[in-house]
Amino acid sequence: SVAISSYHLLQRRYLVILNPKSGQGKSISIYRDKVAPILQEAGIKAELFITERAGHANSFVSTANFHDLHGICTVGGDGLLFEVVNGLRSRPDGSQIAHIPVGVIAGGSGNGLARSLASYTGESSDYLKNPVLSTTLAVARGRVVQVNLTEVDLDEKRLFSFLSAGWGLLADIDVESEILRPIGEPRFTVWSLLRLMKLKTYRAQLSYIPCSHVSEKPVIREPIPETDVGDISARTSIEGDFISIYSSIQSYIGSDLIFAPKATANDGRIHLTFIRSNAGRACATQFLLALDKGTHTNINGVTYVAVKEFSLQSKGGIGGNLVIDGERVSAEKMIVRISPTPLNVFSM
Ligand code: ADP
Ligand code: MG
Repeated sequence: SVAISSYHLLQRRYLVILNPKSGQGKSISIYRDKVAPILQEAGIKAELFITERAGHANSFVSTANFHDLHGICTVGGDGLLFEVVNGLRSRPDGSQIAHIPVGVIAGGSGNGLARSLASYTGESSDYLKNPVLSTTLAVARGRVVQVNLTEVDLDEKRLFSFLSAGWGLLADIDVESEILRPIGEPRFTVWSLLRLMKLKTYRAQLSYIPCSHVSEKPVIREPIPETDVGDISARTSIEGDFISIYSSIQSYIGSDLIFAPKATANDGRIHLTFIRSNAGRACATQFLLALDKGTHTNINGVTYVAVKEFSLQSKGGIGGNLVIDGERVSAEKMIVRISPTPLNVFSM
C-alpha cells in the first residue's frame, strides 16, 4: 500500500551503543528481548555496537561514519552517554553532526538524564514503573528536545557535561558507591550513609556568576539586552574548606535523587550547591537525606544558587574525586559554563 511504501522511504537508521557492564550487567539480554523488537516494530534499522572496555564508545563515535544516521542511542547509564557526547563533540566535523539526536535507553545503575527527561514531560510514573520500556518508546517515537549542556574546562582539556559536576561529599559518593554496583541503583543511598561516618573537608576556591534575576522571571524581557558588565560585578569568590560542592543542569541526578527541582530542560542555568566545613556533619546528613525530596536547598548551612558559570580550584592538592556526570576526572581546576550549543535528545 501507499502507506507502507512511504514508511520505507522514511526508514530511520540508528546507531545503538551498548555497555554490557552497565547496571547489573544484563543490558545485552535487555536489549535483545525488550528493546530491539520495539525498534524493529517502529521501522528503525538499528546497528548495534557493544563496548569492550571503558573509553571504547568515546573512541568509536569520534571516528565512525555518520552518513544518513538519524540518531545515536545508548543502552546503559549516564557514564556511557558521557563517553558518546564527548566523542561526538571532539570530532573535527563536530559542528555538522551536533544536531544528530542522542537517546538513552535506561539500562544503567545511574540514569539521571533519562529520569530528568521523564520529569520534564510528566512521564515520571511510567518511567519509574518500567524505565527500559518508557525510554525505548521515546527513542522509537523520535521526538527530539534540547537540553542543557555545559562545557567543562579542566587543566589541559575541555569536556562536555549534560548532568552534573562536583567535588567533595556527593562526588565521592558518586564514584565510591561503584563497589556496590551489584545492588543496583540503591547503591547511592547506601553509600551515602556509610560516607557520613568518615566525613572529609576539601580546601578550595569557589567562584561563580549568578544568573540574573531578569532571566529567571517568566515576564516579557525589557528591550535593553543584558550585558556582561553587570555579570562581572556579580561574581562571588569564596576560599576555604568545604564539605561538598556539587552542581547539576538537570532536575534529577539519579532515579530518586532530585537535585534541582526547579530545573527545566534547557533553562541555561547551572544549579550549584555547596556546604562549608563549619556546617558540620548534621548539615551534611540532612542534605543527603533530603535529596530524594528535593528539599536539601532549604537546609541551614546549604547554599543554593543558580549560576551561568562557576569555577573550582583545589587549594592544597586534589583529594577526593572530581566528578563529571558521575565519571571521575583529574584536574586541579575546573571551570563549568553553559555551552552555547545545547544537546539534542530523544524524549517522550
Ligand atoms: P552505570 O549506570 O551502571 O554506571 P554506565 O553506562 O554509566 O553504567 O557505565 C559505567 C562505566 O562503565 C562508565 O565509566 C563507562 O565508561 C564504563 N564502560 C563502558 N563500556 C564498558 C565495558 N565494556 N567494560 C567495562 N566498563 C565499561
Ligand atoms: Mg554511571
